[in-house]
Amino acid sequence: MNWRGEIGKRLRDSQVRFDVPLRELTTLRIGGPADCLVDVESEGDLLALLAWLESEGIPFVLIGKGSNLLAPDAGLRGVAIRLGRGLSTVQRRAGTAFVLAGAGLANAAYVSRCRELGLGGMEYLVAIPGTIGGAVAMNAGAHDGETAAFLEHVRFYERGSGIRTCAAGEFPFAYRSSPLRGQLGRVVVAAEFRMREMSPETIRSREADFQEYRRRTQPREFPNCGSIFKNPPGDFAGRLVEQAGLKGHRLGGAQVSEKHANFIVNREGANAADVLELIDLLRESVYQEAGVGLELEMQVMDTEGRFASPAQPERR
Ligand SMILES: Cc1cc2nc3c(=O)[nH]c(=O)nc-3n(C[C@H](O)[C@H](O)[C@H](O)COP(=O)(O)OP(=O)(O)OC[C@H]3O[C@@H](n4cnc5c(N)ncnc54)[C@H](O)[C@@H]3O)c2cc1C
Repeated sequence: MNWRGEIGKRLRDSQVRFDVPLRELTTLRIGGPADCLVDVESEGDLLALLAWLESEGIPFVLIGKGSNLLAPDAGLRGVAIRLGRGLSTVQRRAGTAFVLAGAGLANAAYVSRCRELGLGGMEYLVAIPGTIGGAVAMNAGAHDGETAAFLEHVRFYERGSGIRTCAAGEFPFAYRSSPLRGQLGRVVVAAEFRMREMSPETIRSREADFQEYRRRTQPREFPNCGSIFKNPPGDFAGRLVEQAGLKGHRLGGAQVSEKHANFIVNREGANAADVLELIDLLRESVYQEAGVGLELEMQVMDTEGRFASPAQPERR
């Protein structure tokens, strides 16, 4: 079927573009063209689009700010979906500290809207350059804050059930992981968080502290996608990579950051193959050196929109 000619007919409010380079949609600035990119602007369009893609067996991938994604050099044979302004609104439940945020909203915009309302608690999000949907999907966290700890309700699409709202407690969130991810057939549409009354000055000062810490400890001069590996219990992935002697190691255009060894930076024209080869080397070396199998935090997608982990290293 020529689905390119059909897709626009399913949508009322959303924008459709074809052959969009994934490198423009990811913070690592890597990835070939997606056949199609849809910026979805309403729940109605999202429902119609996902139901149609699933019934036709057309692969799709949810992308927030692409700040935790490695996209394939060959691109995506299917549809990349982003949630647009229509799904990025902020609403306070009257007389309460509950705030409902659209999943397309950027984290920093959420924190600043809450500050205007005199509500705080989630300032750690200013340091995480993704969307609310990505923060729920990845259970993003930093500075002792974690998204699941604030989440009260989540509104989401689920394959076969449409869009509904559930209490957050119904989902088993874990460290940098949740069952609410596009690749698992669930798309976060909005999230309601329990915030705390806080003065704008206090909120601003917490934001500044977190941002200053980031400037000091993380690479900002080259494109990256945050931590490559989850920290193993009781240790730090960056420390283990450094101990294996690979801080600053370069492979093609990709390099282990000289500032933070759990970051890979795109020094110059890196491609996904460079990054994957470097990841394999890091995992193998850390396993040989420390006996620890590092688990990926970064999401690695393939050309059919599936997400995979490179194979676990084997001890020699
Ligand atoms: C400089 C830098 C610093 C970072 N620091 C941190 C940090 O301190 N802590 C931390 O936790 N992370 C950090 N990250 C990683 C990243 O920002 C987070 O994982 C973020 O939550 C990803 O959000 P996103 O919108 O960019 O999602 P994407 O990277 O676009 O997607 C990530 C995953 O979520 C899925 N997804 C996205 N939106 C939805 C949705 N609406 N519904 C269902 N699934 C969806 C995607 O399909 C994919 O599987 C950092 C990244 C960078 C570049």
